[in-house]
Amino acid sequence: MGFQLANLVRENVKGLKPYSSARDEYVSDGSEMVFLDANENPFDNGVNRYPDPQQRSLKDVLAKQKGVLADNILLGNGSDEVLDLLFRAFCEPKTDAIITLPPTYGMYKVLAATNDVTNREVLLNDSFEPDVAAILREADSNTKLLFLCSPNNPTGNRFSETAIQALLEGFNGLVVIDEAYIDFSSGESWVGKLEQFPNLVVTQTLSKAYGLAGIRLGICIASTEVISVLNKIKPPYNVNELTQKRALERTLGIADVRQEVAMILKERERLIMALKNHSVTTEVFHTDANFVLARVDNAPQRYRQLLEQGVVVRNRSNQPLCNNTLRFTVGTAKENDRLLTALNNLT
Ligand SMILES: *Cc1c(COP(=O)(O)O)cnc(C)c1O
Repeated sequence: MGFQLANLVRENVKGLKPYSSARDEYVSDGSEMVFLDANENPFDNGVNRYPDPQQRSLKDVLAKQKGVLADNILLGNGSDEVLDLLFRAFCEPKTDAIITLPPTYGMYKVLAATNDVTNREVLLNDSFEPDVAAILREADSNTKLLFLCSPNNPTGNRFSETAIQALLEGFNGLVVIDEAYIDFSSGESWVGKLEQFPNLVVTQTLSKAYGLAGIRLGICIASTEVISVLNKIKPPYNVNELTQKRALERTLGIADVRQEVAMILKERERLIMALKNHSVTTEVFHTDANFVLARVDNAPQRYRQLLEQGVVVRNRSNQPLCNNTLRFTVGTAKENDRLLTALNNLT
């Protein structure tokens, strides 16, 4: 039957119009307008007014940098909110389902549970790649969303283009590609393929490469049709003024971001070399992200020994296909020195 967006949108959402806030209706054009409409305190302290509900200035910069239109973008209070909006727009509680591919990011499962939507899990294969045939077998008309985390957390690899393309062509719901780590990857973003695949939704974030985890800014890039559905249900002022300002400064100064990413990638190579040469590691997995997953002889023991030396890493052993693995985030050169010293003390 093919992909039809109208078949995916929940009935209650179809009837909604976007909430029109006071600030949506009139934008100050620089002329002497007086805003006595929103019950704000009139004394200027920088944040006494409600923020722009459509974050126009920030979206204009992001649109230019990503090569899309501002109307292809929805911003949220972290990717967490963006992903939750996708559930609330497209997944009917107790009826619909999503597909996720463990081992992967834990939020998809949490959001499915809180929205009372079935989470069908199809394990990645031994190379941490999607099992395309098994995924398409799991899909039916109630399967609204398929989450592909690429580069994947916690494995670090990006998925093969062939597999992703086959899923975009074969799955009739929305394919959500979570690109939280795309800025560390040698592969290209799928944002460039938006016009080719109407069911493609890409999410990105300022929490990782952009170094702004504390301000909570998540990005959804999709067709204008998908974005306008999400706009119907988003809380009007979901991205606060301080976040919009800080995000704008940082995106305008993207050269600094690129420089930091380059340093992180250099450090990542150093960490990979050290792990590969270490006697406790049995396997160091390929990474396209700012972390390295490695298999060790005894993960709980090594985790504890690093902790005793003041170095906190992530034990991912309870994840499928990840037994005896630790996930190391790449830090500053000094932080990584601390890690390497601690690793060298392991016996
Ligand atoms: C860290 C991370 C995010 C970021 O979430 P925010 O809510 O934007 O901070 C999203 N997806 C994955 C896979 C992540 O690892």
